Parts: sequence; C-alpha cells; structure tokens
Amino acid sequence: MKTTSFGQLKWQLDDAHMDEFAEQLGIGKTAFYLSNQASTDQLLLPGYTLPEGTHTCRSVADLQAFIAPFRLQQSDDWINETYEYESSSLEEELKRFTAIFPFLHVDVIGHSVLQAPIYEIRTEPVEHVHTIHFNASFHANEWITTSVLLKWLKSLCLAASDPVQKRHQEAVRILQTTALSIVPMVNPDGVDLVRNGPESLGLCSEELKPLNNGMTTYQEWKANIRGIDLNNQFPAYWEIEYYRNKQKAPSYRDFPGHQPLTEPEARAMANLALRKRFDRLVAIHTQGEEIYWGFLGHEPAVSKQNVVRFEQVSGYKSIQYLDSYAGYRDWFIYQFQNEGYTVELGKGKNPLSMNQFDTIYEKTKRLLWEACKF
Ligand SMILES: [Zn+2]
Repeated sequence: MKTTSFGQLKWQLDDAHMDEFAEQLGIGKTAFYLSNQASTDQLLLPGYTLPEGTHTCRSVADLQAFIAPFRLQQSDDWINETYEYESSSLEEELKRFTAIFPFLHVDVIGHSVLQAPIYEIRTEPVEHVHTIHFNASFHANEWITTSVLLKWLKSLCLAASDPVQKRHQEAVRILQTTALSIVPMVNPDGVDLVRNGPESLGLCSEELKPLNNGMTTYQEWKANIRGIDLNNQFPAYWEIEYYRNKQKAPSYRDFPGHQPLTEPEARAMANLALRKRFDRLVAIHTQGEEIYWGFLGHEPAVSKQNVVRFEQVSGYKSIQYLDSYAGYRDWFIYQFQNEGYTVELGKGKNPLSMNQFDTIYEKTKRLLWEACKF
C-alpha cells in the first residue's frame, strides 16, 4: 500500500510497470519516477491536488476516475495568479509546492538574523550532469523577484508533470539531467520589514530609524535587518567596497559590514556554493533590464556565448563588467571560475510596482528557461 500526501491509494505495481502506470494516469514519467523513487509507502502523483483522506481504488480505471477532477491546469489560480511573499507565506507556499510536485525537495540552508529559515528548493536528477543555482530577494525591497522565480518554477514543474503541456519535453530534460538549486528568499527579515514594517518582526521603529536615513517607511530598505547589505558581504575585493563606501555604519543600503561574511544569510549562501560548486549561477535582482556576466576576467569563456542567448530571449542588455565588488555572484565567479549572471529585472525605482509584473514575468520566464539549457 502506498499513500498520497493527501490520501491513500492502493499501490501494488512494481518498478517495471511504473512507466506504464504513469502513462495511464497522464503523468510525465520522469516526474512520476522522481516523486516515487524513495522507499516509502506513499504513492505520489505530481501535478494533482488530491483532497485529504483515505481513498482505496481497486483498479487503475477506478484511480483514473477518482483523480481526474484534481488535475492541476495551466489556467488554475495557483499557476496563473501572481502571489506576493513574505517569510510566512513563503513557508506555506513551499509546503504546497512539495505536496503538488513531490519530486521537489526543500532544505533549510541557514537562518536569518531573526531566525527565519532560509530555504533551498532542490531537484535530484536521474542522471547528474549539470548543477544550476537561482536566488532571489537578496535585497529586501526587491521582493518581486521571489514572485517571479516561484511563478516560473510552478510552470516548470507543471510542464514536467503533465505530458500535454507545451514545454513538457524541455522540462523533462531539465529534471533528468540538472540538479536545480533555488533559494527564493535570501533575506527574509528584510523582506518582512519592507512589506510589513518593524512591528511585524517584534521590533520598534526607534531601533531602525537611525539606519533608515530619516525615512518613515521602509520601502527603500535593501539590507538585512542589521543594516548590512548582504550582496556586499562576500570576499571578492570586499575591501574596495568597504573603503570607498561613504556608508561606514549599518544602513538601509550599501554598507558591506566591518568584515566579509559577518551575516548569517551571507554565510548560508557562501556555504551552499562551497558545498555544491554549481556549474552556473543566476542571481535575480531589480532593476535595469540588464544581465551582468563578467567579473574582472575570472569568468569562463563560455559566459560570453551563453549571455547572447539570454539577451536574445529576454531583450535585456548584457554587460560584462560593472564597478561593483563583493557580491555573491562576483565571489562565485572569483572563487570557482564558473558561470555567474546577475539579472536585473524591470525598469524604474525599487521597489518596482506589481503593475509591471506581467511584463517582467514574460521576459524573465524566457530567460529562466534558457538559463537551464547547457
Ligand atoms: Zn539587488
């Protein structure tokens, strides 16, 4: 007997019949296989949102009839709508992700200053050929990047789960060959501050005011909750940022800390890269409609070729060098000499208005699909 995450289904098929079974249920074979490969009593059906409870089906036909109404569609709100996330709603959303797409794994790679978990969503490919990492919301007031990344991940997972989806083959190839690592919110405290104010974090305004340049709202806050810019915290020419920066103390933006890697969020991200040594890294920020791909000549030659593809599909402009150091991507390139890209979504002043979301998403999703090709 195997059970689904929502209920129980009779499950007596052996491994040899898995492909056939997946086909009968209208589920992509790879997604089905990856969801059920762990030795567990549960039968997991990616792409279905089954109701809770125990369901006993005596035949495959019974099962087909039972699950049919619960098949996730491209037009369903959860796929189609745009969601905004803070740390608590992200946590709920990730539970939903793993229930609907059980081939995803969620790990906690560290905790923020205020002890919020920093999550990584992973896939474990059938044949490990490539590793690619995406991250969003490094900067607090760029939280729209989490919405973009997770919306795209839903479409990737749905395409992998459902053979009738347009990008099914492409999604299957990614699941088969590529270990995805996605950190959707690097800076949960900062995002909560921008979206819900200091009280929501149990802090009083008086504590943060001195760091906020006299502003009464936190819309311009980029840093973590201690006023350190997490994307200036990495040991890749960090001294340049430290000595040239006008900001010599914690602030709502730009201050790189008194040393590299003093902040738990930055350490969690550095440890992740050291542990996994990704082949490719894509850091998602706002704004500017640009893609940065070089770092002081440490970038591999292949970045120059690949960025052309990313530029073509997104319409964003590629830029090799930027007068900026100590970022996560900078350090990644410097440390591993592997491909690293920063994508600056949208145009305007941060935080970008959600009115721009659809335009941003259209361009970015093409870039994200392309970024998964090797
Ligand atoms: Zn940023």
